[in-house]
Amino acid sequence: MNNLVALLAESARTDGGRVAIRQDDIVLTYAQLNDASARLTTLLQTKGVRAGDRVALVMPNVPHFPVAYYGILRAGGVVVPMNPLFKAREIAFTLRDSGARIVLASSHVADEVASAAAAAGVECLVTEPTSFDTLVQASDPILGVVDRADDDTAVILYTSGTTGTPKGAELTHRNLMTNAATTAETLLHVGPNDVLFGGLPLFHAFGQTCALNTAIAAGATLTLLPRFEPGRALEIMRRDRVTVFLGVPTMYTALLHHGIPDGYGPSRLRLAVSGGASLPVEVLHGFEREFDVTVLEGYGLSETSPVAAFNPPDRPRKAGSIGLPIRGVELGLIADDGTTVGPDEVGEITIRGENVMKGYWNRPDATAEAIRDGWFHSGDLARVDEDGYYFIVDRKKDLIIRGGYNVYPREIEEVLYEHPAVAEAAVVGVPHEIHGEEVAAVVTLRDGAQTTTGQIRDYVKQRVAAYKYPRIVTFTDGLPKGATGKILKREIIVQQ
Ligand code: AMP
Repeated sequence: MNNLVALLAESARTDGGRVAIRQDDIVLTYAQLNDASARLTTLLQTKGVRAGDRVALVMPNVPHFPVAYYGILRAGGVVVPMNPLFKAREIAFTLRDSGARIVLASSHVADEVASAAAAAGVECLVTEPTSFDTLVQASDPILGVVDRADDDTAVILYTSGTTGTPKGAELTHRNLMTNAATTAETLLHVGPNDVLFGGLPLFHAFGQTCALNTAIAAGATLTLLPRFEPGRALEIMRRDRVTVFLGVPTMYTALLHHGIPDGYGPSRLRLAVSGGASLPVEVLHGFEREFDVTVLEGYGLSETSPVAAFNPPDRPRKAGSIGLPIRGVELGLIADDGTTVGPDEVGEITIRGENVMKGYWNRPDATAEAIRDGWFHSGDLARVDEDGYYFIVDRKKDLIIRGGYNVYPREIEEVLYEHPAVAEAAVVGVPHEIHGEEVAAVVTLRDGAQTTTGQIRDYVKQRVAAYKYPRIVTFTDGLPKGATGKILKREIIVQQ
């Protein structure tokens, strides 16, 4: 059985005393993680969970998450992870949509989950936040691993929901296993002596594959941080001697603005990885300088397990680029009529390979729309350079069309990030009587920065073509963000 459960069992057998997961004082060795997840499997089996049954998982980044995750997989179940910030209504939707049999929740979220479970008629099991004993001792006899084929579904990930109603992307054992193995072996070169930073939410594809499953596949250690906060993140990186940092761009911005505290001491950090949204070039350079580390950017989606492209570590990285297609994956760029675009032209990224999901759970129409002739259509616009490096231009839906001209918000955001007073920026289109759409920028300022909206507007005006600069600039205290820290463009309200 060539899957993640087998890898965990193998590490437990050969190097059981090595630390797999830690969160502050709670430490789980490979042997303990394997044992606890096996006991959870028994518990699930006594509750009637059989191969293919969906088991929902609602927990922040605490050690119970990996125990439950591998326990469900070992029982042959399908993991349905959810955002622990969900309210009962959202949890109940996911429980019903996935047809979950049981939901596992940590006590942090027990109330919301219990009321959602009652509404959806699903059994709810709650674990203690810190004590492993209850889980580990929960059941004695270990009934064994339920064998699953590589193409059986392992996880259903409800996509971030930045567009339309959430749909469940069905990822197979092969999808997850190959994406984690490729990340460990060819992208991050992770080995047993590495310590990965676990501040990305594990319910989301990026954290789940690139932090959790990559660490387990390589026999490395993952140190968890339940709620990202730059000061805490830096403390943990130093205390646990983190070697690989993984984050979304808003985490990079927060760390950069926080800066390295005095007396921080030497760091073991050897690599920083960004994904999930575009990392402004200014932030990338600033972070590399401040933390004396290379930042490699990658790209992917929940539907592609997630990694599809990455700046390979053995070649000079290109700032602003998502890199090259990874091992076992092909990328294409197509125009609206489905034809391949020419060099330097912008097209929609299509993806084919071992990382592409089986389809959307119970949504044959949405699946047929997304996967055509074996190619997954991403909805992201990009161009490719002469070396084959891809550059994301924007999301198809974020494109602003002002008076017939295309304005890619990302280009304007890059300029805004160069302004010394700007902390974060988002550019969106707002309806306009004459131009159809107008370009608007919503900006948060750095602490203590003094500037005006007019000055920001003029700064951009001097640097881009006249049709592109934001006629509307507003300041805000904070931009709306999703669970991973991505800026949610569709929730931005522009005060005019
Ligand atoms: P999710 O399914 O939540 O992982 O979101 C996937 C989306 O995140 C993609 O379709 C892209 O729009 C965006 N994304 C991921 N990585 C990058 C990146 N490096 N640059 C720009 N956008 C990205």
